Amino acid sequence: MKLIDVVVVGAGWSGLTAAACLQAAGRQVVVVDKARGPGGRSSTRRQDGFSFDHGAQYLTARDEGFRAQVEAWRDLGLITTWQPRIRVVGARPDTANGSPEERLVGVPGMNAVLHYQASHLDCRFGWRVAAMERSDSWTLTSTTGQTLHARHLVLTPPPEQTAALLGSAHPLSAQIASVPMSPTWALMLAFNVRVQTEFDAVFVNEGPLSWIARNGSKPARQGNVWVAHASPEWSEANLECEQEFAERSLRQAFAEIMTFARDLRPAVCRAHRWRYALCSVPLDVGAIDYPEHNLVVAGDWCAGNRIEGAWLSGRAAAGRV
Ligand SMILES: Cc1cc2nc3c(=O)[nH]c(=O)nc-3n(C[C@H](O)[C@H](O)[C@H](O)COP(=O)(O)OP(=O)(O)OC[C@H]3O[C@@H](n4cnc5c(N)ncnc54)[C@H](O)[C@@H]3O)c2cc1C
Repeated sequence: MKLIDVVVVGAGWSGLTAAACLQAAGRQVVVVDKARGPGGRSSTRRQDGFSFDHGAQYLTARDEGFRAQVEAWRDLGLITTWQPRIRVVGARPDTANGSPEERLVGVPGMNAVLHYQASHLDCRFGWRVAAMERSDSWTLTSTTGQTLHARHLVLTPPPEQTAALLGSAHPLSAQIASVPMSPTWALMLAFNVRVQTEFDAVFVNEGPLSWIARNGSKPARQGNVWVAHASPEWSEANLECEQEFAERSLRQAFAEIMTFARDLRPAVCRAHRWRYALCSVPLDVGAIDYPEHNLVVAGDWCAGNRIEGAWLSGRAAAGRV
């Protein structure tokens, strides 16, 4: 039996950050992810020749350590500033929508940093953990029957999925499963016709949508390519709806705001459901560890949310291992 020092489940920001820190500290690390490539909720999807950041839209950096890391990625050409012309539709009591903070995007897609990190690590994609067992060490079994044995385990899927992997009897499960995540339906739209618009992004505070971005306005992208996100309320209410229903409803809501789209047939109109998109009440613990089992749990939801939170949590997780 080959025993790996650390197996990290999840090749999103938290998993790959943890893995990169551990490897830099001389540990042997293997990362597994059920997806075909790195990114998680910060993936870039390609469809019919168009590319969409259909999850995370941009990142912000407030923590000093994260800001320094962002500058290093900027120097490598993996991240740059996006300065969208922003419109706000519908009233909102706070001023968060108009916040002037720097918006950063991956180049050429939101997953650029993660591709870079993954290329320096032993990552196994298409490897969905189906079962985990613990004796002296961890044994992970994939849905296709492959196994890995690990001394230490770092879990980074969203809380409900992590709790399910641990099983309801595990002492950490109830705490983890109680962390609330809200869903987001995302709509990807591309048009073959060139159109000028007076803005690149819209904060929407009424109707089914909450956000619209011209993906093509981000650096190193092009085209009349858009991503729209439904509000948490609409996404929750329509969580189990048919994909076609989401496409029809959200396209209509999009065309109400982006009038150019009313009479145009899109080349791509595709909805994607993020069942666990954003954590509404994140923890402030960095990561959760259970030393008796050589187990660490991490994710954006452990450290204040979003990409910055995921990065901070990944760092914290590596420290705990
Ligand atoms: C629609 C949307 C919009 C967002 N907008 C922004 C934004 O503008 N700015 C921002 O900063 N953040 C945004 N976020 C949040 C941001 O995407 C997340 O905070 C961040 O990507 C979380 O990274 P993570 O590594 O913690 O989790 P994830 O990215 O969820 O990574 C977990 C990984 O675990 C894998 N996994 C799960 N179960 C298994 C299993 N059984 N076996 C193997 N692998 C498994 C998944 O495939 C996934 O890759 C947005 C998210 C969504 C969905």
